[in-house]
Amino acid sequence: MFRVGLSGALIADQDQHWEGSNRHYVNDAYIRSVYGAGAAPLIIPVTDDRDVIDSILDVCGGIILTGGVDISPLVYGEEPIRGLGKLSPQRDEFELLLFRRALERSYPIFGVCRGMQLVNVALGGTLYQNIEDVPEFTIQHVQQACRQAVTHHVDIEDDSYLIKALGETCLVNSWHHQAIKDLAPGLRVTARSRDGLIEAVESDSPGMPPIVCVQWHPEELTSTVPGMAKLFKNFVALCKDRTP
Ligand code: MN
Repeated sequence: MFRVGLSGALIADQDQHWEGSNRHYVNDAYIRSVYGAGAAPLIIPVTDDRDVIDSILDVCGGIILTGGVDISPLVYGEEPIRGLGKLSPQRDEFELLLFRRALERSYPIFGVCRGMQLVNVALGGTLYQNIEDVPEFTIQHVQQACRQAVTHHVDIEDDSYLIKALGETCLVNSWHHQAIKDLAPGLRVTARSRDGLIEAVESDSPGMPPIVCVQWHPEELTSTVPGMAKLFKNFVALCKDRTP
């Protein structure tokens, strides 16, 4: 079965006997979305060991960079502001390395939420550390509704990878207090919310593999919004097409 790698995260156990013990994990919704797209999900643990990453990439055909905590602003040359959220420097280091190694192999990359922000900073872009400090972003991007609810529109660019799965406009869920500020070279914006915030980017350079990134959480919508399941199916097909 064709395999897709998913970037893992660390969580400290709260159980009394194992308190403080770190676990490597990926949310079940990603796992189910990859199964649903007909591929085998492979969880990549948080590591700074290049050989470990390379040997896992050997058996995958593409990677999904998953959602999570904020990226350290030091990565894009800024000091932390008061509105910055939780960080995981270990995960930053791991995913920057994973992204670079996948890029060198020309693997298709799918970035979700933090994953989109990671792709942007890895390629030299910057982020708004806290969009609540930016008056022009008036839409509620940290929704109070449940995970499977869709709460705001995004308008999708013509001739994009996204439009094939989702059409010109669609409703998405939203849990982010950060966003792309300066877009990295080699990327183009393929969707925005109606307050102008960047909600999706794709690679736009002949030397780059297909990179598709979204700011929302499609993995939470694959059983309720057919276009979101199609996004995962199309990504798996893209990976298969490029695997020799
Ligand atoms: Mn949003």
